[in-house]
Amino acid sequence: MSSNKINTDNIEFIGDNHIATNISTPLRTDAFKKSDDEKIANIQIHFQKIMEELGLDITDDSLSGTPYRVAKMYVKELFYGLNPKNKPKLSTFDNKYGYKKILIEQNITLDSSCEHHFLPITGFAHVAYIPEDRVIGLSKLNRLVDYYAHRPQVQERLCLQILTDLQDTLKTKSVIVMVNAKHLCVSSRGIKDKNSFTTSLEHGGLFEEKTYRDEFLNAINYDLR
Ligand SMILES: [Zn+2]
Repeated sequence: MSSNKINTDNIEFIGDNHIATNISTPLRTDAFKKSDDEKIANIQIHFQKIMEELGLDITDDSLSGTPYRVAKMYVKELFYGLNPKNKPKLSTFDNKYGYKKILIEQNITLDSSCEHHFLPITGFAHVAYIPEDRVIGLSKLNRLVDYYAHRPQVQERLCLQILTDLQDTLKTKSVIVMVNAKHLCVSSRGIKDKNSFTTSLEHGGLFEEKTYRDEFLNAINYDLR
């Protein structure tokens, strides 16, 4: 009993402190051996058990389809970004016009989920880079944010995953990623703070210099006090 108590305290500690253990999403080695349809069928069974355990009458017309809806939503929508086969194709092009200044894609709508509570994280991402030899279509930045957001996430890791992927894709370290997001696990449970939101910022290359960071922050009109 006492060891069980210590265990649940530790579980709450990790959740309340939003501790991520790794930049990579922790995945099982057999994560994608089953098809999406198999996963939906299995999750449907498990979610029905959760509902029954809560005391809900699953034969009610309003509830009977919920396990399937939740299972399909998990696999095909909220967590589609777990599967690398769903990653957007990020074609890059030669920087023919020699653009060497900052390029910003801002106010990218962000819908994610907290991996500690499976509750929504909603907000915006702002992404910028200073090209060297390669450039990318603008909407690809939005698509990449969407892809990494659609996994069980920790905000800091989301920021880092977007950053490192873009650095690899664009063959430059000069990338900056900011995420401003509200976490339902902070606003609807626990401390229940409806107004606070979380800002995370990751950068490399020229953005290590304050002048470039300030250029980015000024352009997105963000006051980092
Ligand atoms: Zn949470």
